[in-house]
Amino acid sequence: MKHDLLVSGGLVVYPEKTLRADVAVDGERIAAVAAPGELSGKRMIDASGCLVLPGLIDPHTHPVYLDDIASLSRSAAYGGVTTIVHYAYAKPGQSLLAELGKMRAEGEAGSCSDFALHGGLFDTMKQAEEIPGAFALGVTSFKMFMAYAKLKWMTDDYAMARAMDLIGRQGGLACIHAETGLAIDYIQDRLLAEKADFAERFLETSPDVAEAEGIFRAVSIGRLMGCPVYIPHVSSAEGLAVIRFLRQRGARLYAETCPQYLGLTWEELKGRGALGKVGPAIKTEADRLALWEAAGSGLLDTIGSDHAPKPKTVEEDFFKAAYGSPEVETMLPVVWHYGVNAGRITSNAAAALLAQNSARIFGLAPRKGRVEAGADADLVVFDPAEPWTVTASGQHTRATYSLFEGRQVVGRVKKVLAGGRLLVDGEEFLGQSGRGRFLPTQAGKGRGKK
Ligand SMILES: [Zn+2]
Repeated sequence: MKHDLLVSGGLVVYPEKTLRADVAVDGERIAAVAAPGELSGKRMIDASGCLVLPGLIDPHTHPVYLDDIASLSRSAAYGGVTTIVHYAYAKPGQSLLAELGKMRAEGEAGSCSDFALHGGLFDTMKQAEEIPGAFALGVTSFKMFMAYAKLKWMTDDYAMARAMDLIGRQGGLACIHAETGLAIDYIQDRLLAEKADFAERFLETSPDVAEAEGIFRAVSIGRLMGCPVYIPHVSSAEGLAVIRFLRQRGARLYAETCPQYLGLTWEELKGRGALGKVGPAIKTEADRLALWEAAGSGLLDTIGSDHAPKPKTVEEDFFKAAYGSPEVETMLPVVWHYGVNAGRITSNAAAALLAQNSARIFGLAPRKGRVEAGADADLVVFDPAEPWTVTASGQHTRATYSLFEGRQVVGRVKKVLAGGRLLVDGEEFLGQSGRGRFLPTQAGKGRGKK
């Protein structure tokens, strides 16, 4: 029997193995994975010399700044990302359910790839009442901030405990921006009083100790409330030490880092002013190496992009500048080049960190996250040997800069399939706005580590 499509001649990468195999697709699903020559297809995609990876899952994006869902999903597609979990933020005075509804509608109209949503609570005491309603909509993970009190984004421990109680009872997951917010605010005020150069002293306003304390406090409240906790964008060795400590005690804790923390240091970014301002701050070389070690050892579960580009310039006032950078399109090449090629993690670990683990943690498996019969035919044909240079002008985000500008990397996305259709073929975009479907999640019930 001839399948609709055959991706042939590649090496298929799984977290536990690498197989020389052909992948057959019927309709939107993977029909079979088998030894070369065993399957046939009406159409062929030649993957010889390339790796076949599962379509990446990006568990951390913000489609509300320069990129909306349509442009973000397009930029993501060029980076091999075929499933995105966006943060839908309900700011003070807004309704969580209304914001979730709006973002879902925007995604269904504009996303070229499948997507899910996290809720974001800013007025947590009030908005927590909407948590059960969010579960009914298929949203089961909720972000809260321990920092940014000046922006009125901070959730205090009482409100966090109450929200985690509700989330835990429903079987969901709390995603916590973990930094000691009020101490950071004091440090900022002290630097302001000194008229300090914020670009020069940025790391003092996002110190590793603040991350470590935030993680310990967030996960401890989660343990008290029976609520698993997901820590996005872990940036420091101190933070990792606390994660290790909590894991050893059986805490239900998942941890994510991002390509900017794995590929860059603040020392390298200093000259680029506000462009390099992201929260938490990109830290030191020792932190970067510790993050790689944790990615390779399984201490870190996922890599997400935290894609949140804003209109910024190198020259603008660093203190007033917004946090965030464009990351989704370069995530896979950066992880590959600085991780796999540098011998810091295996290609198999990359498949776990960039796809399978997020699928499991957010309850999108077995439909997403692995190249397996029955799963959605979301595939990346990746040439691990092709050298190229990252430039902002070569990207498809609306951002006009990249923190990786001029970096020469080896490993390039060649073709991307989503739901059995070519989304990207070399430089050509073949996706369609609105083809992406909303995916309900079942966060916190996955088979990830407890
Ligand atoms: Zn973020």
